[in-house]
Amino acid sequence: MAIRLGCVADDFTGATDLANNLVRAGMRVVQLIDVPPDGREAAVDADAVVIALKSRTVPATDAVEASLRALSWLRSAGAEQIYFKYCSTFDSTPAGNIGPVTEALMDALDTDFTIATPAFPDNGRTVFKGHLFVGDVLLSDSGMRHHPLTPMADPNLVSVLGAQSTRTVGLIDHTAVAHGAEAIRARIDELRRQGIEIAIADAVSNDDLLRLGVAVREMPLVTAGSGLAIGLPANWGFKPSAAAAQLPSPSGHRAIISGSVSAATNEQVAEFLRSGRPAFSVDPLRIAAGEDVAGEALAFGAAHLADGPDGPVLFHSTETPEAVRAVQSRLGAVEAGALVERTLARVAQGLVARGVRQIVVAGGETSGAVVRALGITGLRIGPQIDPGVPWCAAALPGGDTLHIALKSGNFGGPGFFTDSFALLDREA
Ligand code: ADP
Repeated sequence: MAIRLGCVADDFTGATDLANNLVRAGMRVVQLIDVPPDGREAAVDADAVVIALKSRTVPATDAVEASLRALSWLRSAGAEQIYFKYCSTFDSTPAGNIGPVTEALMDALDTDFTIATPAFPDNGRTVFKGHLFVGDVLLSDSGMRHHPLTPMADPNLVSVLGAQSTRTVGLIDHTAVAHGAEAIRARIDELRRQGIEIAIADAVSNDDLLRLGVAVREMPLVTAGSGLAIGLPANWGFKPSAAAAQLPSPSGHRAIISGSVSAATNEQVAEFLRSGRPAFSVDPLRIAAGEDVAGEALAFGAAHLADGPDGPVLFHSTETPEAVRAVQSRLGAVEAGALVERTLARVAQGLVARGVRQIVVAGGETSGAVVRALGITGLRIGPQIDPGVPWCAAALPGGDTLHIALKSGNFGGPGFFTDSFALLDREA
């Protein structure tokens, strides 16, 4: 069956966030890691497909090229509407990439109007009078002002997007959005008559997003953070249901791989260690000295892996910020990171070869390294463990199913690791 909604996301964790919102609103969703190679049949059993690109901070021409390839795949899979997903802090520069990608998608879809809204009130992102707020402060007063790659010094998204677009950017302001779909459509007609082709849409509540969702029903293209996703599935008659998040039954051994050094992960690892469960610590200095740390980790795994609730074995390089800085000053931050990522990816491969079929990975970069090493190209999105972090099912190259949860640094409470497996037990 053809898909309904086709999504192009400009980074991996953002893609999962979007997919998670769509599942919670009742769609069955598959997330693909990059565009499948040419010739791979565009057929998936899902209501929506999210293609995760790495296009947020690459040169605009590369972002456009990748997004158009994704569009072409999604259209051949039958997508009736396209959703371009970017960060809820509108991460971009005057060179792009939100504007150039939006315009390229509009050209390819031959459409003369789209909206843009990073609003996601559940995560504290709201847009009012075209200005983006992060929690209680304007975007420009948040930490984003000093972001190393995409510093955001202007909170007025009409001017931010205008600076990176050749088309004129307007505003669907809150007076229209608060009044409902009819008023939003009337405002869009008015903007169109003024020759405006892209409009920032205000939204300060989930109700605003739901009204916008109804209003954009006929638009070939919408552009947004992940928030708008709560309002789209209903346009096809989808309703929230546990069935949308159904995954195949889990099997095999359980492991946790953590290469995250964030505060939340430090707490999660500490909590796991306190519970007395088996854990192997990966030491970057020993890797750098040429010791076979991955081999030792796998020997430890072989001795401790067990099925069932006592199962998970933890493999981690998680350390306090001081310890990480000490390692980085010896090895260099990039080199230390690369050594750890490579080792944890090899551990993941070895664990899967030894029958692990349920893995929690902590760390954004670490997740990327593990997913690549395991040859995973797509994820079916399942039930949510914590906001923004769902269990997923992936087909391994040999055909077996792997259950995997990918947690970026600061997500999840202290009991995240054991809570994750408890959820899988309940849902299975
Ligand atoms: P997060 O999502 O918490 O930022 P990431 O996996 O994205 O986690 O990034 C953490 C980075 O730190 C990775 O490149 C990882 O390899 C590196 N790293 C992990 N543990 C250590 C350590 N003990 N010393 C130095 N670098 C580390």
